[in-house]
Amino acid sequence: MLVTIAIDGPVSAGKSTLSDAVARRLNILHLDTGAMYRAVGLAALQNGIDPHDQEAVERIFLDNKAQVGIEYENERQRTLLNGQDVSQLIRTEEVGLAASAVSRYPTVRRYLVDTQRRLSEKTSILMDGRDIGTVVLPHAPVKIFLTASPEARARRRCLQLKKQGKKACFDEVLRDLVKRDEQDRGRAADPLRQADDAVLLDTSNLDFEQSVRAIMDIVEARYGQK
Ligand code: C5P
Repeated sequence: MLVTIAIDGPVSAGKSTLSDAVARRLNILHLDTGAMYRAVGLAALQNGIDPHDQEAVERIFLDNKAQVGIEYENERQRTLLNGQDVSQLIRTEEVGLAASAVSRYPTVRRYLVDTQRRLSEKTSILMDGRDIGTVVLPHAPVKIFLTASPEARARRRCLQLKKQGKKACFDEVLRDLVKRDEQDRGRAADPLRQADDAVLLDTSNLDFEQSVRAIMDIVEARYGQK
């Protein structure tokens, strides 16, 4: 039986790291769908295109200049753009902002959602993103909407940035995060929202291990003890 898990939530809710840990415990693949939007954002930047110029972004698709692929090496996701591994290149703030802009365009979403669905048909998978429970995998047996207060998320993001040796100002991080939340919730195409049948999990007062356990409890309630 294939195991299919959908995890959605706002920026810096810990989706990626928690999803990674849970998928490893379950011995299934983890697909970070945000990485795919980031790859399209990077394609725009590499082609000298303003990510806010919808027509120009759509044109790079028609010209086959934004082929996004996913591979797994030792169960770790590698994100490919036109055959090149861009897993590291997409982790900048600039690419994050470009991803946020291009993710508003229906052409981009249709292309990536199709790829994501095709992956889920072949294998057990845990996908995290913004629209997994509502659009990509509406029939997933387990759906979790992962959130935390904006302040808790900003604190975690600051810590993450400091660990990477980057300067982080709490007020600025909080402001950017609230802005990106608004963009993701307010856009017309597949906005961020909790699916009606998703379990809401607020990790504001949970540490990492407690959060993993809480997700495992939800998974095991549906699929049995793993
Ligand atoms: O998750 P991450 O922050 O890396 O995602 C980058 C951007 O991609 C987000 O700001 C969001 O706008 C977009 N995204 C999306 N749908 C998804 C995953 C990410 O629109 N399923």
